[in-house]
Amino acid sequence: MTDRLYYHDSFLYDFDARVVEAFDSNGRSAIVLDRTAFYPTSGGQVHDLGMLTADGQQIAITEVADDEDGRILHFAASPVATGTQVHGSVDAVRRRDHVQQHTGQHVLSAAFIRLFNMPTVSFHMGQESCTIDLETAGLSFAQAQKAELLANEVIAEDRPVGIRFVPLEEARKLGLRKLPPKQTGDLRLIDITNFDLTACGGTHVRATGQIGSILLRKIEKVKQGVRVEFVCGLRAVNTARRDYTTLTEAAALYSSHIYDVPEQVRKSLAEAKAAGKTQHKLLEELAELYAERLLAQAAGSPQIITQFFPDRDALFIKLLAQKLTAGKSAVIALLASGAGQPTLVFAQTPGQKSNMGQFMKDAISQLGGRGGGSADMAQGGLPTGTADDEKLKSLLQETARKL
Ligand SMILES: [Zn+2]
Repeated sequence: MTDRLYYHDSFLYDFDARVVEAFDSNGRSAIVLDRTAFYPTSGGQVHDLGMLTADGQQIAITEVADDEDGRILHFAASPVATGTQVHGSVDAVRRRDHVQQHTGQHVLSAAFIRLFNMPTVSFHMGQESCTIDLETAGLSFAQAQKAELLANEVIAEDRPVGIRFVPLEEARKLGLRKLPPKQTGDLRLIDITNFDLTACGGTHVRATGQIGSILLRKIEKVKQGVRVEFVCGLRAVNTARRDYTTLTEAAALYSSHIYDVPEQVRKSLAEAKAAGKTQHKLLEELAELYAERLLAQAAGSPQIITQFFPDRDALFIKLLAQKLTAGKSAVIALLASGAGQPTLVFAQTPGQKSNMGQFMKDAISQLGGRGGGSADMAQGGLPTGTADDEKLKSLLQETARKL
């Protein structure tokens, strides 16, 4: 059993210890100390990082984990001999951040219980943000805001956070927010004065003021309830800073105040939609004019129209094919476009004997594209950059000869 120094002091970053075991674990060196301030990953809180100094040499600790025998394994890049005296230094910036996020979670979970009786069923601490999963059918934005406010009030009140070790039988009578599933010996209780009492093996602040602040982020439905994303302490400041920078950038694009950005975006979207409609109408008119001109130039029956449009896209030639084949006289249109993804459209006025779908399959397969359709209307696309203008033109000519 490793003596867990962090159980009694979350702000102890430096300590001396002795290596009691050292072995190879899948190419990494695993070190067991008689005592440690390094926190191993558990209960949703991630492990510490830091250094061990042995015989004047610094060894980076890259991961810390619990094993089943109550030992804490410190993983390092290089080995240390059993019996070596070492000095341990925990990365204080990382630890302080974890302590803020983790204690913030205690406060937030307690706030959701007190206000809405929504228990926390799981906690996850990520690189950027943390989440708790609440056991509830739903959580409104107003409820989330209330919980955020209560949590921040408890932070502002700077309530002392105590650590107690209590036998299980006694702990049962104390009405804890959460009891661990299996437990032998005394329970370690974390007591946020007159607000939250729970069993926990993690690292915590001395008083709630050290959490700094809690900022709720995304709220989403998950299988077991509702997931609430949040950030505490300096993470909350950094997140708010990033949000503001993003909003400022967006506001500058609109030359507006940041609070007017949603209204400006709504306006832009409405304008874009209207412009899209106008463009489609103009495109239809253009296709109509093109159709009239092409039909006037084409002789024979059926009239065969073969045309390549290097600067037009698939939508335009589709519209044109519809206009060309919508009349009473027999027309076969073999069209290609070069803008965007090179596209072919073959169409005929209904009731003729050719099969456009088949022609399309034959033509498009030569250039490695995909396509098909009905006997009267077929479309095919080629991967961008695979067909030049000349290839497309000659493909249309070749198909026309087969008619
Ligand atoms: Zn805790």
